[in-house]
Amino acid sequence: MLKVIVVGSGAGGGTVARELSRAGVDVTIIEKGPIIKPKNVSECYQSHLSDVEVMETTCFGGTTMVTLGNAVRTCQGTFKKMGIDLDDEFRELEQDLNVNTLPDSHFGNATKRIMDSARSLGFEPKKMPKFIDPSKCKPCGECAFGCKRDAKWTSRIYLEESIQSGTRLIEETPVTEITTHKGQVTGVKSFNKEFKSDIVILSAGAISTPRILNKTSIKAGNNLFVDTFVTVGGIIKGVNYHQELPMNAWIKLDDIILSPHYSGVLLDKLGKFKPKKKDIMGMMVKIKDDNTGRVTETSVIKYNTLHDVELLSRGSAIAGSILTEAGMDANTLVSTPPRGAHPGGTAAIGEVVDKNLETEISGLFIADASVFPEAPGAPPVLTIIALAKRLSKYIVSSYK
Ligand SMILES: Cc1cc2nc3c(=O)[nH]c(=O)nc-3n(C[C@H](O)[C@H](O)[C@H](O)COP(=O)(O)OP(=O)(O)OC[C@H]3O[C@@H](n4cnc5c(N)ncnc54)[C@H](O)[C@@H]3O)c2cc1C
Repeated sequence: MLKVIVVGSGAGGGTVARELSRAGVDVTIIEKGPIIKPKNVSECYQSHLSDVEVMETTCFGGTTMVTLGNAVRTCQGTFKKMGIDLDDEFRELEQDLNVNTLPDSHFGNATKRIMDSARSLGFEPKKMPKFIDPSKCKPCGECAFGCKRDAKWTSRIYLEESIQSGTRLIEETPVTEITTHKGQVTGVKSFNKEFKSDIVILSAGAISTPRILNKTSIKAGNNLFVDTFVTVGGIIKGVNYHQELPMNAWIKLDDIILSPHYSGVLLDKLGKFKPKKKDIMGMMVKIKDDNTGRVTETSVIKYNTLHDVELLSRGSAIAGSILTEAGMDANTLVSTPPRGAHPGGTAAIGEVVDKNLETEISGLFIADASVFPEAPGAPPVLTIIALAKRLSKYIVSSYK
């Protein structure tokens, strides 16, 4: 039987593990982080400090544990031009994950206020498609700290299904290197411990995957993007936005998205006004950033280019106008520093992997955000899952 090791259990890893085990493949997942209860996931945040702070989560379920449930197709045209058609995969998984906008009952007054004021300024806010089950979700504003009600899709849903079909999970074990023989993958190592397999799928995320590749003499780590964002906000007394579902609506502009968002950083920034959480309202400004960052063995280097600054400035100006129109005192408007929650691009298709996501080492594949050729500028999970599904089909059909 074909033996596959999947490194990492986030969006890409969880998906290939589920799809391959469904097809009868012998799968072992090796995960660096621990298995934790969703309510404790904030302990697993990892922050890479650079000009732009980059965030990810290291645990069973990876960064899917902290998503806001946003589920949109990204980069579909770009992939199509490269000969990668994801239409079927998107259709299948939108059904599988029940992707939909949420009912009106899940829209709070502050979100409605932001949408109304955007409309009055001539913008076209839309409801955000989500992989959130409205019957389980009681909006609390805490999506990014793990869902206590299990209302959103996380890769743990796929992982648990995969484990029930026989997949082995080895947790708290960082993969440090790939083993090969005559150009063919033979397994992985975690320090001195070796694990053998016919195929290895690296899904350790865009920061760790290139580091593992570099140890295996494949050059990777350039072209890092992160979909840089800031949250712009200020004070409207008693607006109570912080308990609403974050990013439940969005406005799409060229290479910029705007969406209602609360950040605790705003509370600190507004300290001189002594506001409470319930007095803060904000909007996220997220851009399709230039992929000029870099991951090295010990650091993540990500700065804003002039073009990034231009996009962030335009988006922040528009967000400020919308918030002011919604009743915010413009004197209280502040912004968070730039951060990035969608690292990708560090082992891109055409640079490090081919169209089938295989590296120059036969049997060594990549299924995570590293393979994106450019920043999506929008939530990438649905596209990572679609790519991982396509890869699984390829492996099943080629190695039968
Ligand atoms: C706060 C926040 C909110 C977000 N909200 C959304 C959203 O609403 N919608 C959306 O589409 N995207 C969202 N994202 C982005 C999304 O979560 C990530 O883009 C996505 O999870 C990346 O998938 P991945 O498979 O590349 O990596 P990950 O999901 O990060 O998985 C990588 C896995 O590899 C493991 N690992 C790392 N190194 C090793 C190693 N050496 N050995 C073994 N295992 C290793 C990690 O522990 C992890 O389990 C959000 C991100 C953040 C931070």
